[in-house]
Amino acid sequence: MSTIVHATRRGWVYAPFTCEHCGHQDQGAVRMQMSAGAQTGLLQDLDDTRDLAMGTAHGNMEQAGDELIALSPCPSCGLRDDLAVRTFHAKAKPWLAGGGVLLAVGLAGVAYLASKDELFMGLVATSPVVLIGAIALLVGLAKRLRALPKGAAFRSVDPRPWAHLNP
Ligand SMILES: [Zn+2]
Repeated sequence: MSTIVHATRRGWVYAPFTCEHCGHQDQGAVRMQMSAGAQTGLLQDLDDTRDLAMGTAHGNMEQAGDELIALSPCPSCGLRDDLAVRTFHAKAKPWLAGGGVLLAVGLAGVAYLASKDELFMGLVATSPVVLIGAIALLVGLAKRLRALPKGAAFRSVDPRPWAHLNP
């Protein structure tokens, strides 16, 4: 029998930061928490699986932390990296595009059947498509309008996250 083992990692993630606007160079840090699960296999005991889950959680944490630091406003000029912001917003695009297509197809179906005096049938037949399209659009919109995350801590402003590294 296999079991799913969950592990949670929390701690500071550090990454170098260079501002593309003013050239300010700094060290960024964010406090992260990530969980991951792994399934015990035939050849693995529980400890190995926990290590695997821990490794995955750690990797996810490092990656999300790097993205957050890249997204942070520069401590010197206050501007954000254009590319990081665009990547952040681009995550909404597939939802918006897919939702738009489904909604258009669904509404076209309603319009077609309505033109044949089958409006009721049109609504019944296409409402799942219209509904799924509308939900996907809403998800995309929520992702698009999601506020940019708060900035990371920067060494030049707040050296506390680094204090324990150089005792
Ligand atoms: Zn700057």
